[in-house]
Amino acid sequence: MQKTGPFHVLIAAAGTASRFGSTLPKPYVNFCGGPLLRRTLGIFLSLRDVASLRVIIHPDHIGLYEGAVQGLDLPPPIMGGSTRKQSIYYGLKSFSNPSDEDKILIHDAARPLVRPADILSLSAALQDHPSISLAAPVVDTLTRHDGSYVDRSGLYALQTPQGFALKALLAAHEKAGDRDFPDDTSLFQAATGIAPHLVMATGPNFKITTQQDLPMAEALLSSPAAFSTRIGTGFDVHAFDTGGDHVVLGGVRIPHSRALQGHSDADVALHALTDAILGALGDGDIGVHFPPSDPSYKGMDSAHFLKFAAERARQRDGTIENVDLTIICESPKISPHASAMRQNIARILDLPLNRIGLKATTTEGLGFTGRGEGIAAQAVASLKLPV
Ligand code: MG
Repeated sequence: MQKTGPFHVLIAAAGTASRFGSTLPKPYVNFCGGPLLRRTLGIFLSLRDVASLRVIIHPDHIGLYEGAVQGLDLPPPIMGGSTRKQSIYYGLKSFSNPSDEDKILIHDAARPLVRPADILSLSAALQDHPSISLAAPVVDTLTRHDGSYVDRSGLYALQTPQGFALKALLAAHEKAGDRDFPDDTSLFQAATGIAPHLVMATGPNFKITTQQDLPMAEALLSSPAAFSTRIGTGFDVHAFDTGGDHVVLGGVRIPHSRALQGHSDADVALHALTDAILGALGDGDIGVHFPPSDPSYKGMDSAHFLKFAAERARQRDGTIENVDLTIICESPKISPHASAMRQNIARILDLPLNRIGLKATTTEGLGFTGRGEGIAAQAVASLKLPV
């Protein structure tokens, strides 16, 4: 697991996009059913490590901006300048007291395809490098007008996000003065001599430049070929204690004459579900991520484990399609609590209720569950992940 850390985000949306050719400025055109800018913001807003997110806009677009971000929890926008460089400088200046540890990712609003997993790789790279950029190897043959060819080996196209030590980038901008640069990594390199560390994009991340790019990007996001279905199963057992007054199942506290033994709250149902999601991701199991030997998990609400598994899916750009759970015990009776459990699981996973299956069964008095020695649960999860 790569080490990431908190980072600030500046979204550049102040351009007038002369090449785009639309009456509506590019950040506000319809893309996948909403403003393009909102789609790009959504990618960052879903990430836990984002310490703050600020958007730089064109002063003429304030009304469009307010409509596009309605309902999102964002600070007021920053008004851009007459060039991209000036706009980014204003964005950097908006941080009143940056510390040496502050990191920043700068991203173009017009790149709505960037993958969360790539953003997290950038965040990890930022721990070790003061200047980084998402990049892709140049695959096209390159030629000049005079007919001479450019060797493309070792050539990379720089994309965004680009990431920096915030204070160092601000200093580089101040040093650059009025000189113009194609991007922030070149400006940073001119000021410090430090070339960007490149992180390869794992998927298409092109910039929406013309009207024709919009349907192409939408098709990429919705193409069934871009995703595969993953299935995972989970199984867990907890033994009854000799005493107690309740058990916790599916996050619901159920009065019972004996508690379940376990390090956390012993919620066997949520443990099985957590393992099913981790299984679909091929990402170990609950014991790997939360070792029982670690005292900090004692008595812990198992919703924490399930949330963690859902977050791991999101970090891989995955979505949980549905989960299904069977609780196996003679007692307590599950049916009076099944609805509350489903609602609880739906809330934790942020899924509609009809994607949560929950059943209970006895084993007709047979085996350890039949003898009332404990409760078992089995679960299955179906996920959609980028290929
Ligand atoms: Mg367990």
